[in-house]
This record gives sequence, C-alpha cells and structure tokens, in this order.
Amino acid sequence: MAIQWFPGHMNKARKDVAERLKDIDVVIELLDARLPASSANPMLARMAKGKPRLMILNKQDLADPVVTEQWLAWYRAKKQTEALGMDAGERAPAQRLIAACRALAPTRGGLEKPLRVLICGIPNVGKSTLINSMSSRKIAKTGNMPGVTKNEQRIILADDFELYDTPGMLWPKIEVEEGGYNLAASGAVGRNAMDEEEVALELLKYLLVHYRSELAARYKFDEEALEGAQDWQALELIGKRRGAVLSGGRINMQKAAEIVLTDFRDGQTGRITLERPEEWAEWEKRAKIL
Ligand code: GDP
Repeated sequence: MAIQWFPGHMNKARKDVAERLKDIDVVIELLDARLPASSANPMLARMAKGKPRLMILNKQDLADPVVTEQWLAWYRAKKQTEALGMDAGERAPAQRLIAACRALAPTRGGLEKPLRVLICGIPNVGKSTLINSMSSRKIAKTGNMPGVTKNEQRIILADDFELYDTPGMLWPKIEVEEGGYNLAASGAVGRNAMDEEEVALELLKYLLVHYRSELAARYKFDEEALEGAQDWQALELIGKRRGAVLSGGRINMQKAAEIVLTDFRDGQTGRITLERPEEWAEWEKRAKIL
C-alpha cells in the first residue's frame, strides 16, 4: 500500500526546521513508543546530522514495555544520542528532559549561552500534550522576535534552557512499507489516505505472530482458535464475535476492521509495539533493495 501523505504545509515546516537548526544545541525527536522507527523522521535525522539528539519514546503506557527497553538501548548505542520513555501520566517530565539535554551538551548552558533545544515530532505523537504538561505559564509566543518564525513557540524551561517548538511537521515520503502500515494503524495517517481493511489485516498479521494471547483475550477466543489463523480469518472471527454481520450472515469486514483499529489505538488490545529493532533493520534493508 502506498501511503503518500505530504501536505503542502509540511514543505514549509521543513524549511522552518532547517532554519531553526542553525543555532540549536540539542534536537529532541518525539517518537511513538508503539512504532519508534516508523514515527521517526529520516529527513530530520539527515538535517540534524552531527547534533546531539534526544529520542523520547512517548505514549509508553500503550507500548510493550519489554520492546520499549530494546528500543531505548538501540538508540542509546548511537553516537551522541540519549533516549527516554515517557507518557502523559508523568508528573514532571521537564526535569528528566532537561537533565538529559544538559548531559548531551555539557559545554552549553549558563546565562550567556542558554541551551537551545528543538523539539520535533510527527502529528499526533503527543507533542502538545507533553509541552503543555511542562510549561503551564512559561510559553512565550515568539512571533515578534527577530529570527524566530511566526507561531514558533519558545518555552523557557529554566533560566538557561530554551525549548523551541516549530509548528507543523516534516513528513517525508514513507520509505519502508511496513512503516506506512504501522503509522496508519496508530492513527497518525488521515483516514482518507488509507484503506482501513488493509491496515487492519496487516495489524492482525503482526498481532497473530507477536501478541496472539492478547488478541485472544481481547475478543474472548481460546488461543487455539487463532492458532494458524490467517489475518483475514482472524478479522472474520472478530467481526462475528462483535456482531459486525451483514444481512445474509456475511461478515462486515469494514466494520470489523474499524473495531480492530480502534481497540489497538485505545490500548484495549493490550500494550503492543508493532516493530522491534532487528525487524526494522530487515524491513529497511528490503526497502532499499526494492
Ligand atoms: P500532537 O499532534 O503531537 O501535538 O499530539 P497531541 O498532544 O495532540 O496528542 C495526540 C493524542 O495522543 C491525544 O489524544 C492525546 O491525549 C494522546 N496522548 C498524548 N500523549 C499520550 C501518552 O503519553 N499516552 C497516551 N495513551 N496518549 C497520549
């Protein structure tokens, strides 16, 4: 499935970010902990090359904690990179975030050279929620400051610590097919840009391999009922179980797909992560060959 979603305003966002990056000390990228690699932005990685980076795996409350640990280790093994898991329930996220950034850029800070940090993330990853939880009264609209883009927010998290939030987001061409499906499953892609049945089937294919018992528990099946089941068979079973049936007894696959996707997005199916570091490496390799 080709998900090509690159609204025009994202071109502008890319330019804004490139401009802002010039005097930034640390780049924070907010990722969805359920799909850390798919929700990352390869273009940002290229633009921010050479800068220290903090990867925040957000919405960790929805993700598989074991896999989140694998991803944190994977990011921490990279040069000049720190990684933290977070969720909206965290009481004082600013403290951990500030400490991690200071450690990444130890020569910056102090009143003469405040630490300047840029926070980026694809839509729906939870950026506004995180920023609001950190900033109550501290947000400074910077539209009238020289060199600062209109609508850009500058949040003073400490006397010598400035967090910049560039509105809009970069969204390059999706390079890895599985990544497109995972983004769609997470709800990051607009409904019009995808076929829900196709996305739900891909999701089920993954869940049948990695989260079969969660799937069985959610829809009250015996786990054996799902053993060896194909994605479409699982979708049919779920549709039947949930009364998504058309006249004549056929399963309403569209309705069943909506149920599967909504349950996953709301965390009702359990704490699930749709990609593991080694899987992602494989998918990426294949995407490059194709
Ligand atoms: P933005 O587009 O990146 O600014 O995303 P928002 O901050 O608007 O969040 C998108 C959705 O994700 C909202 O429904 C939030 O309530 C939800 N959300 C944000 N952070 C978390 C989190 O850590 N855990 C969970 N479960 N939901 C979150």
